[in-house]
Amino acid sequence: MVRTSPLTFRKVLGNFFVVFALTVIGSIYTSLFKVYWPLKSDPKIMAFIITFHIFFLLMMLCFFKAMLTDPGVVPPLWGFYMGDSETKRRRYCLMCHVFKPERCHHCSACNRCVLNMDHHCPWINNCVGFYNRKYFLLLLFYVNINTYTVALFLFPQISNELCLLYQTKHMPNSSQTLFLGTYTLNCMLSMTLTIFFKFHLKLALSNSTTIETMDKKAVSKVNYNKGVNKNWEQIFGKNPWLWFLPLTGDSGKPIGDGVVWTVPINIEIDDIPEDELEKRNSSVMNDMNKKKDEESKSKEISTAPDSLGSRTEYTRNFYHPEVKQNSGRIGEKFTDDVLLSPEP
Ligand SMILES: [Zn+2]
Ligand SMILES: [Zn+2]
Repeated sequence: MVRTSPLTFRKVLGNFFVVFALTVIGSIYTSLFKVYWPLKSDPKIMAFIITFHIFFLLMMLCFFKAMLTDPGVVPPLWGFYMGDSETKRRRYCLMCHVFKPERCHHCSACNRCVLNMDHHCPWINNCVGFYNRKYFLLLLFYVNINTYTVALFLFPQISNELCLLYQTKHMPNSSQTLFLGTYTLNCMLSMTLTIFFKFHLKLALSNSTTIETMDKKAVSKVNYNKGVNKNWEQIFGKNPWLWFLPLTGDSGKPIGDGVVWTVPINIEIDDIPEDELEKRNSSVMNDMNKKKDEESKSKEISTAPDSLGSRTEYTRNFYHPEVKQNSGRIGEKFTDDVLLSPEP
């Protein structure tokens, strides 16, 4: 991770969480290995061992990729555009001394700003952000697969042990205690992480983040949802062969740069009948002409929609990326000031 501020105590302490997570994974793995490795001569058991190890390896790769990939640092020359809303200008990080792009937040554990920050995960001792969100989601996916596999395949062994203990009325010895404890921990993990995975999958498919969900202030309520497919591709990239692998390559990278975000078009232009489109465009033209008249009257001030849909005052000498994108031709954002024409 690129350090833009000094290391914090919380970040150093986070390494112990990582060691703890690895110990839990190791003990669950050992329990399964002890039971199934002696039975490897059975081809079915061997097939299970191989399949389990493929998923286990993928899980471990996702774990390290999520932990070691930089979630996204603010580019050094990032600033605000002349004419950007006051809300954007106010998003200045006093700790990192940078203007924060949309969806960027300062993490107190990492002690720096993180692009498209979702949350700081203590188990990987890293923030989940723009560049490692895919790995984090895949990690949850493979953890779920592995914990369910362990719960299912160790169940006969566990029930035998419990029956034996019940019949002999003996207290479990240390290795039995460890085995029962590990199995219980595995089941608790699988239940908790299923809920966690469902929550994060829902956020990913709606192009939202944990921080945005928690933020009750209306200011941050920008809807970035572009539909399930586009939202999925935004995180997992365009190449379906890489979706479930902890690799990115050129075609598996998240879409965009994590700095500039566009909001979806609310309507499909092709769905609008031509006469309605003409009517709408002529009314937009009228509005634009009216606005021009007003501008020439006031000379000093003009208005344009900002990314939050509100109206903000600009000096005449403004530059606004959305206005530039949208003028004359539909851009990514649908606003009332945009002329619509069907796709060629
Ligand atoms: Zn910061
Ligand atoms: Zn963090």
